[in-house]
Parts: sequence; C-alpha cells; structure tokens
Amino acid sequence: MYDVIIIGAGVSGCAVARELARYKTRVLVLEKEEDVCCGTSKANSGIVHAGYDAKPGTLMAKLNVEGNAMIHKLCRELDFDFAPIGSLVVCLKEEDRPRLQELYDRGIKNGVPGLKIIERDRLLQLEPNIADNAVCALFAETAGVVCPFGLNIALAENAFTNGVEFEFNSEVRDIAFVDGKWQVTTDKEKYETKAVVNAAGVYADKFHNMVCDSIINITPRKGEYMLLDRTCGGYVRHTVFQLPDEMGKGVLVSPTAHGNLLVGPTAEDIEDKEGVNTTPFGLDKIASFSMKAVKNVPFRSVITSFAGLRAHEDGGEFIIGEAPGTDGFFDCAGIESPGLTSAPAIGRYLAEMIRDKYHFAVNQEFNGKRKGIIRPKNLSESELNMLLKDRPDYGEVICRCESITKGEIVDSIIRPLGAKSLDGVKRRTRAGMGRCQSGFCSPKTMEIISEMLGIPLSEVTKSGKGSKIIVGSNKDEI
Ligand SMILES: Cc1cc2nc3c(=O)[nH]c(=O)nc-3n(C[C@H](O)[C@H](O)[C@H](O)COP(=O)(O)OP(=O)(O)OC[C@H]3O[C@@H](n4cnc5c(N)ncnc54)[C@H](O)[C@@H]3O)c2cc1C
Repeated sequence: MYDVIIIGAGVSGCAVARELARYKTRVLVLEKEEDVCCGTSKANSGIVHAGYDAKPGTLMAKLNVEGNAMIHKLCRELDFDFAPIGSLVVCLKEEDRPRLQELYDRGIKNGVPGLKIIERDRLLQLEPNIADNAVCALFAETAGVVCPFGLNIALAENAFTNGVEFEFNSEVRDIAFVDGKWQVTTDKEKYETKAVVNAAGVYADKFHNMVCDSIINITPRKGEYMLLDRTCGGYVRHTVFQLPDEMGKGVLVSPTAHGNLLVGPTAEDIEDKEGVNTTPFGLDKIASFSMKAVKNVPFRSVITSFAGLRAHEDGGEFIIGEAPGTDGFFDCAGIESPGLTSAPAIGRYLAEMIRDKYHFAVNQEFNGKRKGIIRPKNLSESELNMLLKDRPDYGEVICRCESITKGEIVDSIIRPLGAKSLDGVKRRTRAGMGRCQSGFCSPKTMEIISEMLGIPLSEVTKSGKGSKIIVGSNKDEI
C-alpha cells in the first residue's frame, strides 16, 4: 500500500513527488509515456515569469511569484540551466499605456520585486531590434529562461534518489475509493494508496470527474512555435512580450536557456488532447505577430517548429487541493502558464497539504542536491584533461551541432531514471537539438543506446512504444 500515488510525471507531478520525499512516505509516480517530461512540460516557452500577469489574490499569482523565487535558488541545488535575463512587455501605442500601467500595478500587488516602466530611449539601449513604434515597456528583472526538460528531469531524478518510485508506460485507466482506500488501476496493475495526486495535465479533468461530483472542464489550448538557430540567440537579450489579451500572454520573442531564439506561441482552443501538430496558418501568424514588436526577425534561420497544449480549465485558475467530497484525492489541475514557473511552489504547497492531512514525519535523510551531466564544453582545459584520463569518451563528439560527447550520452542513459530513447537522450543532453535536428548524430546515438541498454539496434525507439526507427532491412541478411 502506498501513501501517495501521483498520476503524471510532468513538471507538476515531479515537483510534488520531490517535496513529498521530504517526509517518511511511500510514493509512486505513474506515467503513461516512457519517460518524464513527455506532456506539456516538454513544449512551452520556458519562461520563468516574474508574476505580474495573474489576478491579485489568485493561487496562480501567489504560486507564480513564489515559484520564480524558488527557481533562482533551485537551479543551483538541482543543477539545471536557468538564465535570469529579465523580460519586457512592450507597449506599441501611446493609448495602450494605461494597460501597461495596469500590469505594473498588478505586479506590485502580487509582490513582484524589481518592476519598472522604461521609456523608449532606455528600451532601445536594451533592445536595439525593437519595433520603431515601441513607446515604452514594463521591465521585470526577476524573469528568466529555464530549460524546461532540465527542470522536470532534475526534480524527477532528485525525487527518485530520495526513494520515490516511478512506473513508466503505465496508463491509469480507473480510480475508485473502496473500503477507505484508493484503488488505482493501470493498463498493467492495480495499486492501493491512501492518497492520489491528479497531475495528469490536459487529462486531469477526466480523473477529477471520475471521483468528484463538481465537474471541471479542461480545454487543450494549442501554442505553436518556431525555434531559430543559435546564431540568432542574441537577436534580443530579454524575453520580449507584447501586451496580453484574453487568450494569454501573446507572441513572444526570446533567447532560450541554451542560446537559441524562440518565437511563439499561438493560442487556439482545440478538441484533440494529443493535437500537437504545427500548421502553416499558425506559423504565419507567429511570424506576423512577432514582427509587430521586434524588427526583421531572422526567420531564414528556423531549425524546427513544435506545439504544446495548455491545460486551460474553464475557471482560468489553478485547481490545487483535495477535491470536494473526496477523502484523499488531490487535484493539481488546470496547470496552464505560468505552471512551469510555479511548479516548485505547487509541489511545496500540495505536499504540505497532504502531509498535514496524514501527519507524515520528516525524512531526516532527504538530500535536496543533485548533480547534472558533466558538460565538457564548460570545463577549463586542465579540468577537461583530468576528465579525459579516466573517461576518454568525453572527448568523442557525437552531436557536432551542439558539441555533445559520447560520455554525456552514456551518462544520460546510466544515471537515475536514465534515458531509454533518442528523445530521452536529446532532452537530457541536447544531442540532436541543433541545426541538423539529429540528421547526422542519430545513428551514432542509437548505437550507444543499443550498447548501454543491451538491446538490438532494431529495438531502439525515438520516444517509446510505436516509434521504432529501424523498421526493416533493405538488403538480405548474409
Ligand atoms: C504553449 C505553452 C507555453 C507555455 N509557456 C510557459 C512559460 O513560458 N512559463 C511557464 O511558467 N509555463 C508555461 N506554460 C505552462 C507549462 O508548460 C505547464 O503549466 C506545465 O508544463 C504543466 O505541467 P504538468 O505536469 O501539469 O502537465 P504535463 O507536463 O502535461 O504532465 C502531465 C503528465 O501526465 C501524464 N498522463 C496523462 N494521462 C495519464 C494517464 N492516464 N496515466 C498516466 N499518466 C498520464 C502525461 O503523459 C504527462 O506526462 C506553457 C504551456 C504551453 C502549452
């Protein structure tokens, strides 16, 4: 019998799992995909929002501001990539100035530190490529950019090394409260637990409505993006937003935590909870919208496009807590933007609520520190030479676009909750994320996965079941 079963290994589920590991608990995370970070947490803007967007007094506002402060510290404890570059909301018409002021006032009410409104001259100094008609901007110094995979994977690894169990390829099909405990049934097993955490992203309404009479409704709100080559990463230095509208924060232009340039997202309500395709219409829209705020974005350097789905609940607020009328079913639902920023605070908030209900004792052995994969390109010459003495594979470059070595790929596979597929390696190391989008390195990476996992090359997948890369042979076996 588990104390807590968490449905979903996205950033929310993994943040809750890590915080629960601070207590003497038996916790299991069930994930339908083959790895952590396979849902919305892998396809977003990666912005650590300052916290001026959400309405004062909401859970979204509180957890955004708390999460932002936690990430500034957590990136050192858990060793993931985060750059505190600051953000700008650009006002393009003098008559829109009151709307910018409203954002500033909201930020002050939400407790966001370091906010200022800057005028055109200063804005031009900060961002030389800003549109000619830009009037002024809201500058938020606490905003930043994070590697979304890095944050999610670090939280999961640290939860795991502190005793949390993970089951992948385990799709939860049914939940029922029987004889004072929860029965959680997957496509493979039936588990028993005192409490359930519903962190199933766009599917969280399905599980909530299974056990609770007050119905919730989550609409997948699609956001499409274009990612540009690292040669363009300095085109803007801050995350540049335009004034938000009722569908969200609008199209942004931003450097990523790894120095690419990201442009997007769109915001379109759809029905398909797996509908992550991009469309010519969406990409055209991003191009025309982004250039209202930033001049001549170098779209010739686009290396890929992708889309993510916001879990938009009808009430437009995070739903976090024990579902009404249940005994131990905790929602972590409607976690749309700023969910990535808020995740560490969501984890703490919900774990403390569950601890208080079940009186969990403190786990004195909890170790909140985690070391990421060694990056040879960040080492000094002498450090690199020392490393190469023991591990010459850190000198063998596999992904030339991103300068990723065999040693890093091996580490990504053998470390706790290691990679099992090409995408798993990519999210942990960036092998295949560069200009050629894995055109050159994937055969070599596949060979390393095959060798390290002891499986035939033909069994290596792109992203788990149904995605084998080798589907036959074009010559007869000799
Ligand atoms: C376009 C876009 C831009 C965004 N930009 C930002 C941003 O810049 N900053 C920010 O702070 N936030 C941003 N967000 C929001 C942020 O990405 C999300 O709030 C966050 O990733 C949600 O994480 P999650 O763990 O709740 O959901 P998910 O990451 O979707 O995780 C849910 C998990 O549950 C699993 N699951 C579902 N059903 C089952 C089942 N039956 N059994 C087992 N497992 C199941 C899924 O496979 C998935 O892994 C953005 C979102 C989008 C879509």
